[in-house]
Amino acid sequence: MPELPEVETIVRCLRRRLIGLEVEAVRVVFRPVVRNREASFLNRIVGQEVINLRRRGKMVLVDFSGGLTVIVHLKMTGQLLFCPNAEAWDKHTHFAITFRASDEELRFRDVRKFGFILGVRTADAEGSKELSSLGPEPLTLDLSSFLDRFRGRRGRLKSLLLNQRVIAGVGNIYADEILFKAGLHPRAEVSRLGHRRLERLWSAVGTVLNEAIAFKGTTVRDYRDAEGLEGLFQNRLQVYGREGEPCPRCGAVIKRIRLSGRGTHLCPRCQRR
Ligand SMILES: [Zn+2]
Repeated sequence: MPELPEVETIVRCLRRRLIGLEVEAVRVVFRPVVRNREASFLNRIVGQEVINLRRRGKMVLVDFSGGLTVIVHLKMTGQLLFCPNAEAWDKHTHFAITFRASDEELRFRDVRKFGFILGVRTADAEGSKELSSLGPEPLTLDLSSFLDRFRGRRGRLKSLLLNQRVIAGVGNIYADEILFKAGLHPRAEVSRLGHRRLERLWSAVGTVLNEAIAFKGTTVRDYRDAEGLEGLFQNRLQVYGREGEPCPRCGAVIKRIRLSGRGTHLCPRCQRR
C-alpha cells in the first residue's frame, strides 16, 4: 500500500503537472470507486481550474478553483497517473479527468479496487469522515506534541505506529524501518517506554520518512508515481523484506514475525525487547 512517502511523491509530481489546468470532463467508468451518493457531484469540477494538490496521511487532495476538492485514497493497489490521452485504456482504469488544451489526462487505476474517490466542498474536506479521524502529520509534529500522542497509551509499539488516529501516513513498510532505526522492538509495550526511547522514535520517524521521500518512495509491487516511475527507496530498506539476510548494523540474521496479522521485520539483536 502506498504510504506517506509514496503519496507525497505523487502529490509533488502532480503539483508540477496539474496546477493551472482547467477541467474539460470527468469520466467515471467503474461507479463503485466514487464514494459520493451522486456521482454527478464530480461533474461540478468541469470548467474549474486545479489550484492546489495536497496530501493528508495516505490521501491525495486536489483543490479546484470553484471551492471543490477531490479526495483520492489509493489503498492497496491504486495509482494516479498523468498520461497521454492517447495511451491505451486498460480494464483497471476506473476514473479519469481530462483537461482543456492538454493532451494528457489524470487517470485512477486500481487492480484490487479498494481505493476510492470522493468529491467534497473544500471547506468541508477537513471535517469529512475520511479526514477528521486522522491523527497529525508526523513530519510537522514537534517532539513535545509527539510525546503527547504516545504518552498514556497502551499497546504494542508497531500497532500504534500503524494506527492512523495516532499519527497519519505510516504503514507496514515504514513502521518496520522506523523501529529498526530507533532500535525498538515492534512488540514493545508503549506505556513502558521512557522519554529517551520515545524521543528516539520521534527522531527515527522524521529521518526515515524524509529519506524515503527524497528517494521517491518504495516500489515493492504496484507502486508507481504519477509519471509511471518506480520509487528508489526499496534499495535502501534495512529490514523490510530482508528476512534471512544479515542486519546492516550488527550482522545478526533479520527475522520476520507476525504482529496483529502483519508481517513484521526486525533485527533480534538491535531491537531487543
Ligand atoms: Zn542488528
